Amino acid sequence: MLGFGKPRASQPAELNTEFLLSAIVDGVVLVGEDNTIHLFSQAASSITGWPAQEAVGLDFRSVLVMTDEHGQPYPPELHPFAQALRTHSTIKDSKGLLSTRSGKLVPISLIVSPVIEDVNSMATGVLGVLRDITAEKLEENRRSEFVSTASHEMRTPIAAIEGYLALTLNPRVANVDARGRNLLEKAHTATKQLSQLFVDLLTSAKAEDGRLASYPKIIELGEVLEQITDTGRFIAQKKGLELKYVLSAGTDVRGGRVVRPLFYVYVDPGRIREVLQNLVDNAIKYTNEGSVIVALTGDSSVAQVQIKDTGIGIPEEDIPHLFQKFYRVDNSMTRSLGGTGLGLFISQKIIELYNGRIWVESQVGKGSTFFINLPRLTSEQALQMQKTEASTLSPLGNP
Ligand code: ADP
Repeated sequence: MLGFGKPRASQPAELNTEFLLSAIVDGVVLVGEDNTIHLFSQAASSITGWPAQEAVGLDFRSVLVMTDEHGQPYPPELHPFAQALRTHSTIKDSKGLLSTRSGKLVPISLIVSPVIEDVNSMATGVLGVLRDITAEKLEENRRSEFVSTASHEMRTPIAAIEGYLALTLNPRVANVDARGRNLLEKAHTATKQLSQLFVDLLTSAKAEDGRLASYPKIIELGEVLEQITDTGRFIAQKKGLELKYVLSAGTDVRGGRVVRPLFYVYVDPGRIREVLQNLVDNAIKYTNEGSVIVALTGDSSVAQVQIKDTGIGIPEEDIPHLFQKFYRVDNSMTRSLGGTGLGLFISQKIIELYNGRIWVESQVGKGSTFFINLPRLTSEQALQMQKTEASTLSPLGNP
């Protein structure tokens, strides 16, 4: 039981908690280890529609009903209050929606922290601070809508400019002297970069508001990685770099035949290719000498891709920001090489779409390794899902 309400020796006698809480615009909710609500501020009532006198004493799960951004109820163990109570750590959530007493879904940002009583330093409950972020979400949606429309509209004229420049550079179409060709080639390269920027902008705007199209299928990651390394080899060799795909741990030779483990995952093949291609391209781009090694490993439940380079590396202070939109490490190499700073942002959004994780370990001057973890399916699961997929696609299975 929480010792809430017992004044401490150091607490001024006139301190009125109810009064103080009513001055806070964010809702404050105190939940004990018994899962019941012990305190419910006025702002919490305004957000949820539950009067404090009714909410206090009830199980938090019946008052603070939460869903994900698509309106799917949170699994009980993933409710931020349940997580904070279980782990005794601070849980932040700004993606969920709160279902008010009247059933309206309100976007909220929530921080739930354990309350530690001085006796034994044991957490005896959790304190949640919730804020209605409807206005911020609306603003965010307007912004991404604008970026989507603008980048979509601008792609058409840019594609036309790119096409005309390519035509002008074609000796069978136009006569251009060497100087003119040199200038036109620069214009063509810049237009291609601009066009890529608009594609990336459009993709990131879609990723931000959950509109990224995804058609997941069962794929075998090893096959995709082999194809990506094969196509990247030419560019790597032009820079004098070695690009190789390392057969995964667990590879075996049986009866003279190499048997490698299969890593099945359930993802959109186009989207995962986009991510892996971006990481391999970056590894080549930010490496002047040495090698880029692509490896696939994992355990029974995780497939792990590693893309390791011997390039310029990433300073420690930049690593936490690397997956943010437009973030580029500022050094002479990144300044001279073009880039949008959107590739890793988009990659992270895609990986999260499939409940995976992406991160990097790096040392300046030595190189970087990018890691991707994805939930792995057993061969039996993959086979079963493939059968189901086939039967729903075939005309017989789809009456
Ligand atoms: P871009 O490469 O277009 O700038 P990304 O989002 O793909 O954008 O990468 C963001 C930044 O991360 C890059 O600008 C670069 O500074 C850094 N970075 C990414 N990959 C590597 C790598 N393999 N080695 C060193 N730095 C990298």
